[in-house]
Amino acid sequence: MRTICIFSILFVLVLLWTACRGAKSGLSAPLTYDQYPVYTGKDLGMNWSPSAAVFKLWSPPAEAVQMHLYERGSGGSPLQTLPLKKGKQGVWSISLKGDMQGKYYTVQVRIGGQWLAETPDPYAKAVGVNGRRGMILDLSSTNPAGWAADKRPPQAAFTDIILYELHVRDLSSHLSSGIRHSGKYLGLTEMGTTNAGDQSTGVDHLKELGVTHLHLLPVFDYRHTSVDESLPAQTPQYNWGYDPENYNVPEGSYATDAADGAVRIREFKQAIQALHNNGIRVIMDVVYNHTGSTTESVFNRVVPGYYYRQNADGKYSDASACGNETASERAMMRKYMIESLRYWVQEYHIDGFRVDLMGIHDIETMNLISADLHAIDPTIFIYGEGWTAGGSPLPDSLRALKANTHRLDRIAAFSDDFRDALKGSVFKHEERGFVSGRPDEEESIKFGIVASTMHPQVDYRKVNYSKAPWAKEPFQTITYVDCHDNHTLWDRLAISCQDANEAERIRMHKLAGAMVLISQGVPFLHAGVELLRSKQGVENSFQSPDSINRIDWNRKTQYVSVHNYFSRLIRLRKAHPAFRMPSAELIRTHLKFLDVSDKNLVAYQLSNHANGDRWKNIVVIFNGNKETKTIQLPRGKWSVVMEGDEIDEQGIRVVMRPFVELGGISAMILKED
Ligand code: CA
Repeated sequence: MRTICIFSILFVLVLLWTACRGAKSGLSAPLTYDQYPVYTGKDLGMNWSPSAAVFKLWSPPAEAVQMHLYERGSGGSPLQTLPLKKGKQGVWSISLKGDMQGKYYTVQVRIGGQWLAETPDPYAKAVGVNGRRGMILDLSSTNPAGWAADKRPPQAAFTDIILYELHVRDLSSHLSSGIRHSGKYLGLTEMGTTNAGDQSTGVDHLKELGVTHLHLLPVFDYRHTSVDESLPAQTPQYNWGYDPENYNVPEGSYATDAADGAVRIREFKQAIQALHNNGIRVIMDVVYNHTGSTTESVFNRVVPGYYYRQNADGKYSDASACGNETASERAMMRKYMIESLRYWVQEYHIDGFRVDLMGIHDIETMNLISADLHAIDPTIFIYGEGWTAGGSPLPDSLRALKANTHRLDRIAAFSDDFRDALKGSVFKHEERGFVSGRPDEEESIKFGIVASTMHPQVDYRKVNYSKAPWAKEPFQTITYVDCHDNHTLWDRLAISCQDANEAERIRMHKLAGAMVLISQGVPFLHAGVELLRSKQGVENSFQSPDSINRIDWNRKTQYVSVHNYFSRLIRLRKAHPAFRMPSAELIRTHLKFLDVSDKNLVAYQLSNHANGDRWKNIVVIFNGNKETKTIQLPRGKWSVVMEGDEIDEQGIRVVMRPFVELGGISAMILKED
């Protein structure tokens, strides 16, 4: 009996020793990221009230968390260092009594006995200069006068949208803009500005042109290594900003004072308000697919590794080609994206998002984002790049790639099929496209005209990239020919058509503009395309100086006929619902391609008051050949409404014969009432 007892005690002791040893030497398996507890509350980050500021941080692996309070956003020693208390679901919290408005803070997490570097938390809503410290702020104090009455301009259907893609600095950094707040958010609030030829610039120009949405290149806080917010405004610095630092805070270098965390918030809201007052909605370019730094990111400094995908060898995968890719499929990254986007909509009244390298994100997350945002407002527009910049460990079938767009809920993707068919591949600078006389692009052009949807007359086998329709509905296709990436259209035509004179290249440029603005889908214009914008041949101007990137408003005087052509095209599109049908079924019913045997020539008819158009029938013809072409017209009484530079809805001339002649490198539209 006694022997059994001694053996039992020994056995228990051995068990205990093994368990202790295992814990000390790490033999008990650590939690995998997917086993981390998930926080279900919606109050992460700093939440101010007059009586207390309550802060919560999610960090399951932390052994301890502390907060440092500071007087300013940079410099000085901490006023206080306070410990956070561990709660449920991996959340640490602290309540700072009293009105803490205006104080700055960092958090610091201890893991494996080591304190990691100080950082703002991922949910920081306000920060000091260069985003190094969070700021405690009553957000309502940043609202401009009349903010409560700010409303989104009306929008009926997604296919009514006309996007205009702009970098904040580019609008106002050329003297010719006449804008006082050069390179700033406030430049977007100045009205009545003109160039030397007395033509409108800035927001007045956008109104005159008629675009409905201003798509801003990154305006969230990006890395100080790209643009140092602490340097004087006249220091030459420029970056597109695709290197996120603080996702929920506006970039400081576009504010008149980057040191006071409230100023950038107020001024960005003022810009949004001014655009809304002028009938223009605002789209934010968002880059949740990676962080600017891997080791110094706000994610890795609070929960190392968790927010990123890893390869089988445990190293960071890099589908962004920027050193890392985030893991949208992981519960707390997914939650972060949803809450961050919702925050921009609710706090800043943002009207939509362009998702950078959307193909890195998983489909399920994108659809949850869509459901969440569209529950707030069904008119919010979401679109993205349906590709990546490198391989990802997440299978293609799960990612929001262009080919999977039909599985995305109310989300659109850019059509590189149409873009490259129009001007040639962005990877082959000398290659020509439809507008510059390259034959055999007709099927890709037809695919673009029907906005990548299923149409019985498109032979998908002959389409340049996609061999099947990828958009379920036309609004899921962003129709474009150039954007901030790669050469501007005007530079591209100069490089690929060195034998063409300027007049010919202008015709090509205008033909591309017409094909973007008359086709189905959602048209997208790169800012300044209507002024033959040039970046002096620089293909990737992400950190080129203002002298390369800025819009030269003198070109509006120099190339006024091009500007007028684009603004008339936009007016025509807006006046005629036939050019912006909201469903693929309507396109299949009302859009019929005409039988033309010539290369580099595409023609189609929009019949029977398509989408309620007041014109009974419309014929559209695009001719990429240098030569004049003759087109057989369907039976009817046709008048030309668009020809050469002229657009006149009343009719320029009546066509007396069953055919029409169309000049080289041009677009033509005819109507039958
Ligand atoms: Ca910054």
